[in-house]
Amino acid sequence: MTILLGCIADDYTGATDLANTLVRQGMRTVQLFAPPGADIEVPEAEAVVIALKSRTNPVDEAITQSLAALNWLQGAGAEQFFFKYCSTFDSTPQGNIGPVTEALLDALQQNFTIACPAFPENGRTICYGYLFVGAQLLSESGMRDHPLTPMTDSSLVRVLGAQTRHAVGLVDHRTVAAGPDQVRAAFSALQAEGKYHAIIDALGDDDLLTIGAACADLKLLTGGSGVALGLPENFRRRGKLPADAVADQLPSVPGPAVVLSGSCSQATLSQVAHMRRSRPSFQLDAMALAAGEDQAGAALAWAMDHLAEGPPLIYASAAPETVRAAQDKLGRARAGELLEAAMAKIAKGLVAAGVRRLVVAGGETSGAVVQALGVHGIRIGPQIDPGVPWTTTLGQPALALALKSGNFGTEDFFLKALDCAP
Ligand code: ADP
Repeated sequence: MTILLGCIADDYTGATDLANTLVRQGMRTVQLFAPPGADIEVPEAEAVVIALKSRTNPVDEAITQSLAALNWLQGAGAEQFFFKYCSTFDSTPQGNIGPVTEALLDALQQNFTIACPAFPENGRTICYGYLFVGAQLLSESGMRDHPLTPMTDSSLVRVLGAQTRHAVGLVDHRTVAAGPDQVRAAFSALQAEGKYHAIIDALGDDDLLTIGAACADLKLLTGGSGVALGLPENFRRRGKLPADAVADQLPSVPGPAVVLSGSCSQATLSQVAHMRRSRPSFQLDAMALAAGEDQAGAALAWAMDHLAEGPPLIYASAAPETVRAAQDKLGRARAGELLEAAMAKIAKGLVAAGVRRLVVAGGETSGAVVQALGVHGIRIGPQIDPGVPWTTTLGQPALALALKSGNFGTEDFFLKALDCAP
């Protein structure tokens, strides 16, 4: 196969969000969960997104995994590369966004790229380098309480600067509004100053299209899924992508459905509350797991009793006070791991019992579930809500999966997704 765009994402739901954007712009897109071995047949596609679970790994591991993904994508013929991270720039002062970006630049023998997590359709905008979530600064949004990557500074120039060896500059929204030529001129000016990274403002989709056009010749881009909006058009302009391509068709996957939620993001908490009003639900508890209780077994048995009534909800999601209490007792990582392991076991048990459609909320949680199910890759289908498409797995048995990043989706997301499952 020969692909045009090769992408590396630092978590699974983020990868799907990016793939969703590319599909909607007419690029057939396959998401893989690791560089595939020779025994895996990858369907024809114009874009491949390799989804890693590297967001919160030690820096060295994140770099090693990202370089292996890059190597495979280069072998598949990609002309341009994209490193995708969260639209809320989820990272810590150690990384991994900065160190991974610099490792990719080195491997590609480049000395300049952009960093643009903006996703205006979902309320993530950047103004003078400050990241907003809706009308709030990042550091004043729910992200300040994230279980793994609390974000307490909204200045992306400062946040990325703390993670990189090379200097970070800014292309502000006035330059972006002036068009692609001016943006390219700003890139040149920053490069002349020795800056390797440019944070770029984006307030709306028009800005993202301008940025996409300005980046046609950059070997590496980094950012959220929004900035990928303008990339397919570059390939279309060069005659490499048909004008009328339909890229979101999926085979149908009949079978029972379950919703699994391990995200504690604010959007997910209201989605859980919404679904609980009309569907049976089962809550997992980190403290009970730590005490050795077989909550996964109990949840599975409970789900089997309720499947006939329609899709049930199994969730770990809890309010910040409850999460903090569990983390204070168990440690942040241990609490997360216990719940992720339980979700993974439950997902495996459900599929063994014949469940074929899963809606999973939470990036890390989706990662744990997909790994447990041994899924190598997915085809990306139609969008449910911005950033979240239905997908079907490569290989057998075919499963339909909707992997939702914590903050995405409307309040009725879970039921809406189930209504339009493939
Ligand atoms: P999001 O996409 O919202 O960031 P993630 O699944 O990536 O969601 O991350 C949420 C993390 O919080 C996971 O590691 C999950 O296991 C953990 N978690 C979920 N519920 C709780 C809880 N009640 N207490 C402590 N940690 C929790």
